[in-house]
Amino acid sequence: MRRIYLDHAATTPTHPEVVKAMLPYFTDVFGNPSSIYFCGQEAKEAIEEARVKVADLIGARDEEIVFTSGGTEADNFALEGVAFANGKKGKHIITSAIEHHAVIETGRFLETRGFSVTYLPLDGYGLVDPDDVRKAITDKTILISIMHANNEVGTIEPIAEIGKIAKEAEIYFHTDAVQTTGHTPVNVDELGVDLLSMSAHKLYGPKGIGALYIRKGIKLTPFMHGGEQEKGRRASTENVPGIVGFSRAAELAQQEMSEEVERLTYLRDKLVNGLLERIDHTRLNGHPVKRLPNNVNMSIDFVEGESMCLNLDLEGICVSTGSACSSSSTKPSHVLLAIGIPPEQAYGSLRLTLGKWTTEEEIDRVLEVLPRIVAKLRAMSPLLRSHK
Ligand code: PLP
Repeated sequence: MRRIYLDHAATTPTHPEVVKAMLPYFTDVFGNPSSIYFCGQEAKEAIEEARVKVADLIGARDEEIVFTSGGTEADNFALEGVAFANGKKGKHIITSAIEHHAVIETGRFLETRGFSVTYLPLDGYGLVDPDDVRKAITDKTILISIMHANNEVGTIEPIAEIGKIAKEAEIYFHTDAVQTTGHTPVNVDELGVDLLSMSAHKLYGPKGIGALYIRKGIKLTPFMHGGEQEKGRRASTENVPGIVGFSRAAELAQQEMSEEVERLTYLRDKLVNGLLERIDHTRLNGHPVKRLPNNVNMSIDFVEGESMCLNLDLEGICVSTGSACSSSSTKPSHVLLAIGIPPEQAYGSLRLTLGKWTTEEEIDRVLEVLPRIVAKLRAMSPLLRSHK
């Protein structure tokens, strides 16, 4: 059976060019970058070259990039690093109710350490109102953390506007750009952010490597304790192949971005419109325009997301019912609930995220298969019978 992968927000396949770039760093250039002999220094050089390329992708300087084990660590480091370095100035943090668990749960952890966290509400599209951010600021606020784009519904937040508010109030501003880096233009100065999280496996790089951008001059309390790697900002022997792979993925993303945005937007809209036409009682979740070019998130009434997902799997089509991290959970997505979708509709949601190798033929196949699956499930559904 031909397999169709439509879960690129969960992870992307590693680009063959990325794998090629990484391979020598497992074998020939295997030294520890902290070692002073040539084997180590070669690896160190590769890291520094990679740092320049990753920085370039977001308009930053190389010394502002700290490599981490992924987006989760970058988010944890940003929030805890600012909180513990600035706890004497104030103990209040502002974030939103639709952040990734890596931010929400770090917020919850900080609440157990004496910090207070405001989780801002969203409108029905999943947008944060910059005015709500302004109103939530107190003289104790030390950090604002709002994601660049949501991983479930794809809504792109007004980061540049919030950046201006944070700057005026002289409060550090972090954005989780895990879903946007390499997919849409990201520039730290244009966005007005002080800290920004990235993850390589969302942009055709390897898993287990990411980075936190830290604007020059900002001091964070280290999150990892140990050696002096990353100028004392992140201990542990560097993941050299991962870092090299991340930088190659960043280079490729930069070269292909504008063409990909156009191509994916066309395929996304074709899929959304096709599903709306072919399946009644269906809605698009998230903002219709201010959304990631590859994200489709639909609520389909009278069927369960999980049943659709399993039936699509039998047809060789991989999609998600929400974020990958919560797909084994039976709770409805916190994102859908936060944007006002009733639980029964949240249970009937599907996320389809397109990628570099998604073809129009694959979209046509989903448009043929999914309506058929929905009709079959609805014919058996007690939910539909009780509605009639
Ligand atoms: N932030 C967002 C918005 C994400 O989508 C993800 C992954 O799904 C993460 C953070 C976590 O990244 P990682 O898997 O690299 O830890």
